[in-house]
Amino acid sequence: MQRFAGPPPTTHPFDDDKLREECGVFGLWGTDSASAMVALGLHALQHRGQEAAGITSFDGGDFHSHRGMGHVARVFREEEVMRQLGGRAAIGHVRYATTGGAGLRNVQPLFAELASGGFAVAHNGNISNAMRMRGDLNRRGSIFQSTSDTEVIIHLVATSTYRTLLDRFIDALKQVEGAYSLVCLTAEGMIACRDPRGIRPLVMGRLGEAYIFASETVALDMVGATYLRSVEPGELIEVSDQGVRSHRPFAPERPKPCIFEHIYFSRPDSIIDGHSVYNVRKRIGAELAIESPVEADYVVPVPDSGVPAAIGYAQQSGIPFELGIIRSHYVGRTFIQPLDHVRHLGVKLKHNANSALIRGKSIVLVDDSIVRGTTSLKIVQMLREAGARAVHMRIASPPTRHSCFYGVDTPERAKLLAAQMNVAEMNNYIKADSLAFVSIDGLYRALGESARDETEPQHCDACFTGDYPTSLTDQEDLEQRHQLELQEERVA
Ligand code: SF4
Repeated sequence: MQRFAGPPPTTHPFDDDKLREECGVFGLWGTDSASAMVALGLHALQHRGQEAAGITSFDGGDFHSHRGMGHVARVFREEEVMRQLGGRAAIGHVRYATTGGAGLRNVQPLFAELASGGFAVAHNGNISNAMRMRGDLNRRGSIFQSTSDTEVIIHLVATSTYRTLLDRFIDALKQVEGAYSLVCLTAEGMIACRDPRGIRPLVMGRLGEAYIFASETVALDMVGATYLRSVEPGELIEVSDQGVRSHRPFAPERPKPCIFEHIYFSRPDSIIDGHSVYNVRKRIGAELAIESPVEADYVVPVPDSGVPAAIGYAQQSGIPFELGIIRSHYVGRTFIQPLDHVRHLGVKLKHNANSALIRGKSIVLVDDSIVRGTTSLKIVQMLREAGARAVHMRIASPPTRHSCFYGVDTPERAKLLAAQMNVAEMNNYIKADSLAFVSIDGLYRALGESARDETEPQHCDACFTGDYPTSLTDQEDLEQRHQLELQEERVA
């Protein structure tokens, strides 16, 4: 079965001033109504991707797929769809557009009939040499169905000269670079795998006799499963009716899990690599209060993402925590694009100042990050218009100065405020009374480290430092091409 749901919703026009995690994956082997469980798990991962969702199941004889644009509840709302996704094993995926754009043909899980049988794959991350590999595969005769980087993995499996599917899969993964947390489904079993640096998260859980893999523990909670552990960086786990086998097919690397998962991407009720996301965010707020204290009447979060750090700041500083900004929960991502001349009012669709509280008061305003700076500017302005005497902005991450190439939607560097300005200039731009970011060492302290290890950092923190943990082949190829074009223009 291959059915497509209707047209895509419009991305919310005022929600574009954040980095966006681009995918969430969920897989389950070994229980009846597996697809219904996967749909629930994907619902808990909805924050990781809101543009499309898909599920592929295996019923012991056939594979069944349904993929569509929109939220999980919309794509899987029909009973008939769920009834046709039969079987005791299924994998699913939610996504924003990553490499390859937003078309339906790129919606995952991707599925292929290989010589060894059906093979479905759901991928969180980004293959940073996908364009180079794709060119090689094209020259060898591969015909791609999508423009997704994930399809490169399928073609590498299909063209591998190894005999077993597992060896072919390992052979394929050894040729790709970048970030991948994968959940794959075959007729024989499920394979879950995390890249050697473990850049994107992946956890393992148990529900009765069934095994589950998910991007975050919150998806295990959703289906009532028990959290067993994280899939280790570089680990590949096979689950079948014969049991569970763990493999370590890659040369060991120092793990570099994405530090931004702790700041913003993951839900605060998740546990990432053993850390409670909520507690880490509170500790970042406490570090901010120690590093950048200021006298004020209230600590106010930008809801919802600034809330845990604001609580941490308030507890550390002794300044009362108050809800000085109220968030509307009725702004869907399907909001109709407004006319240009009312567009500047858009921030109030989502946030409104609690003027009775803040009039005449000095505020510490806490948010998780500044990307373009457009939202910060509007929120500071909104608090001033509501009568705040002073607005001191405190940010629970270091300045975001670099793009991410590991499965996170970042604006090009030129649009990142911190890539263009120093902190004083940024403060002038957002028109706050003061602006401070947590230091990179403060961030690591919040994660239980004494500081960032400068020679071999404990996490990927490249969007703050520019210190990328893998080669970026496609990016280097693009830059080389750009340089050549510039040279040709000069010669002409
Ligand atoms: S560059 Fe930033 S967002 Fe991307 S994986 Fe690294 S820490 Fe995470």
